[in-house]
Amino acid sequence: MIRFDHVNKLYPGGHHAIKDVSFHLQKGEMGFLTGHSGAGKSTLLKLIALLAKPTNGQIFINGHSLSRVKKQQIPLVRRDIGIIFQDHRLLTDRSVFDNVALPLVIAGHSHKEMKRKVSAALDKVGLLNKINNLPLQLSGGEQQRVGIARAIVNKPPILLADEPTGNLDPELSAEILKLFEEFNRVDVAVLIATHDLGLIARMKYRTLTLRNGQLINDGLFQDDRGQL
Ligand code: ADP
Ligand code: ADP
Repeated sequence: MIRFDHVNKLYPGGHHAIKDVSFHLQKGEMGFLTGHSGAGKSTLLKLIALLAKPTNGQIFINGHSLSRVKKQQIPLVRRDIGIIFQDHRLLTDRSVFDNVALPLVIAGHSHKEMKRKVSAALDKVGLLNKINNLPLQLSGGEQQRVGIARAIVNKPPILLADEPTGNLDPELSAEILKLFEEFNRVDVAVLIATHDLGLIARMKYRTLTLRNGQLINDGLFQDDRGQL
């Protein structure tokens, strides 16, 4: 579903943010992406989402080689990818409905279709009763769930999350992770970037660890004492 083959990313100015990274995240697989601040996590997610271009190496998303994707096809490939941000990036002057409907507006769905899909997405995250609220009328955890509903409203086969629990307490973080597990169970590939090692250690999932742009570990997370 997501495949990196010897990928490098050098930023203009010469910073080598991703160094010879190779991995394969299969359809329906869930994994964490970790590493200290500046290790390259955001850059790796941006490469997947076509928000940055690799300097060399190959990236395959849902069977497409990104180096062969023409400019006009980029929106089509992006439709396969739902993205969740730490700061959820909701439009504060628009209702929950409008925020979740945004990817559908871009894809050109009818209003009736939108209503059905937005309701289904909000139902999945348990917020159908807030459909007409403004984001600021919701709690932090609820706002994050609206961001998740927006990311999944198109039913993308790939879900990326950049520090999705960064602003939440442990209880709400666990709730958000439970949602990711539910999507994962219906065959969505999920990649979650986080430096919350406690969270990762509690979950027995594949963990990709970056250090200074290099993939130094790919497997079950081990803490400093070598325990799972
Ligand atoms: P992380 O998400 O793990 O904190 P990033 O991917 O954001 O790491 O950054 C990796 C490295 O690349 C950092 O040293 C950062 O300063 C650098 N970097 C990120 N974006 C850019 C950019 N647009 N131009 C130049 N350097 C960048
Ligand atoms: P985010 O991680 O929120 O997506 P960026 O990827 O733009 O934001 O930035 C990540 C890190 O890279 C930050 O530490 C930022 O200061 C640094 N960075 C961003 N752009 C540049 C740049 N042009 N040159 C050097 N460092 C950069």
